[in-house]
Amino acid sequence: MQNGVRSLQRAVLSRLFDHLQEHYGVDSARDFFVDGRLNLHQVDALLAFKSDSQLDELRSALDRLEHGTYGVCITCKRPISRDVLERDPGRSICAACEQGFNHGANLEMGHAALNAFEPHALF
Ligand SMILES: [Zn+2]
Repeated sequence: MQNGVRSLQRAVLSRLFDHLQEHYGVDSARDFFVDGRLNLHQVDALLAFKSDSQLDELRSALDRLEHGTYGVCITCKRPISRDVLERDPGRSICAACEQGFNHGANLEMGHAALNAFEPHALF
């Protein structure tokens, strides 16, 4: 594993640990966890029966690290900037796509999309 990847993994694990501690009272050895000395099965065992959007995001970030796709926007496949990832290690889409998504979602909720189609064409 390259050094860069390892420090990204550390960032994800550290965020994940803080989240577990804060929301679920998990209190195992922080260093052991954050150093990546647990394999994914052991991490999953810790995450069993716990689920929320941030936890799921961070867990899937670990998968992307494992598969070498971490830090690449899942939508446009462009790299997500490093400082965005530092602020939000579980991030899976770039800022541009996020804005595009929000914009698109707002449009869809509005009247424009609905008026453009016969109701049966939507389903
Ligand atoms: Zn993107």
